[in-house]
Amino acid sequence: MKHHKIAELLKSEHLLQEYTVKGWVRAFRSNRFISLNDGSTINNLQCVVDFENTPEEILQQINVGAAIAVKGTLKESEGKGQRVEIEAQEIEILGEANPEEVKKTILSPKRHSLEKLREQAHLRVRTNTFSAVMRLRSKLSFAVHQYFQQNGFNYVNTPIITGSDAEGAGEMFKVTNFDLNNTPTDENGEIDYKKDFFGKETNLTVSGQLEAETYALGLGQVYTFGPTFRAENSNTSRHLAEFWMIEPEVAFCDLDGNMDLAEDFIKYVLSYILENCDDDLAFLENRVIQEDKSKPEKDRAPMKLRDKLKFITENNFKRVSYTEAIDILKNSKPNKKKKFNYVIEEWGADLQSEHERYLVEKHFKCPVILFDYPANIKAFYMRLNEDGKTVRAMDILFPGIGEIVGGSQREERLDVLQNKMKELDVDEKELWWYLDTRKFGTCVHSGFGLGFERLVLFATGMTNIRDVIPYPRTPQNAEF
Ligand code: ATP
Ligand code: MN
Repeated sequence: MKHHKIAELLKSEHLLQEYTVKGWVRAFRSNRFISLNDGSTINNLQCVVDFENTPEEILQQINVGAAIAVKGTLKESEGKGQRVEIEAQEIEILGEANPEEVKKTILSPKRHSLEKLREQAHLRVRTNTFSAVMRLRSKLSFAVHQYFQQNGFNYVNTPIITGSDAEGAGEMFKVTNFDLNNTPTDENGEIDYKKDFFGKETNLTVSGQLEAETYALGLGQVYTFGPTFRAENSNTSRHLAEFWMIEPEVAFCDLDGNMDLAEDFIKYVLSYILENCDDDLAFLENRVIQEDKSKPEKDRAPMKLRDKLKFITENNFKRVSYTEAIDILKNSKPNKKKKFNYVIEEWGADLQSEHERYLVEKHFKCPVILFDYPANIKAFYMRLNEDGKTVRAMDILFPGIGEIVGGSQREERLDVLQNKMKELDVDEKELWWYLDTRKFGTCVHSGFGLGFERLVLFATGMTNIRDVIPYPRTPQNAEF
């Protein structure tokens, strides 16, 4: 039996025709009105039951959470709240849901906290909030590929298991097939990784950048979009141990080009959802408004969700050098009054999220691209400026999120790169292949990393990163 998607029927002009829909019961009122949702849209389809001609045992199984098929006629609705409805002729119970059992879950029709929903992450996608978030996540993924493919980028899949631990982006998870109760040791009594699966120490990737660079220096423009792992024990609302990162890398592109690319890319994907996901955005916008009612004025979102997204797409990001930013921070009220946890004393200080948020939310009130950071707080592969003390790095800071993008122009000069690696004790032997790219046709090139979940967080107005990925992986938590 072919069935139709509810999203399609709600928009359909073909009334008085017969359709079959399949979905999960969200509500059943007065033994007559079923609210059916099949995941194709945030909106439910009202199915009107002819209860006098429906067997009692069927009626009794139309419970919240049950999967059913409804065959009937699509009609203009008599009631308020929906344009069309299905007048049911035939109802089939596909998968029952016992009301007593349902009551113990988040499927029960009442407000559940986001924490509670996390505990039942396998069911939370059946709620309006999570179905909206996950549909948006999917559309954003599509927009990411669409942007790069339309602009001549090649999608590359960099390894998830890596042998290089030189990147230094964060703590790594080891990959091994050793029996941990019986690991082979060498003559010094140390673990003998030569006997391990790969014959060396291996880890889950923290970034595909170094491999992506080698591909950019052949394909010209590439991007990755894949899982990334960091064993950082930071239990924040913005960090996951497993997250998805997007990393474009472009040959013959300097830092200005890199900033242009990042800004254009972010604007494109946000415009894409504004144009294509209005129902879900409207729902999430209203959700934030409702949530904010119980919060003190100062903690409320300053802009409605769709206005916030439009603001990003319609305004230029403010580009500010690290040096200018330090001056602004040094002279800021919270710094003078020692309200920051880390008071900014002098040039060279690493910026904490409180500083980033001050710049974005209080001072500039728009996305900010900070560039030209001190060399000694950034990674070894970033291009040294003529001043000898700053590097061509850039971070994009977003309101409510903090850092959403980290990128740089890469050091293309072999000797400068080698010196830097010595200085930072990065093993040249490990990265022989990376250094090769600087020997054979090296060129100016740049790239950045954008944490996909931080983008989804911003786009949905959710506030905890655990609520924008189906099954979050965080310290002490790998359920499901
Ligand atoms: P942060 O200072 O927020 O920890 P980072 O400097 O470690 O970020 P990068 O190494 O530059 O970040 O990674 C590139 C991007 O990946 C970041 O801008 C951010 O969007 C995202 N990202 C980094 N760490 C995480 C994480 N643990 N969970 C989710 N996204 C992350
Ligand atoms: Mn980090």
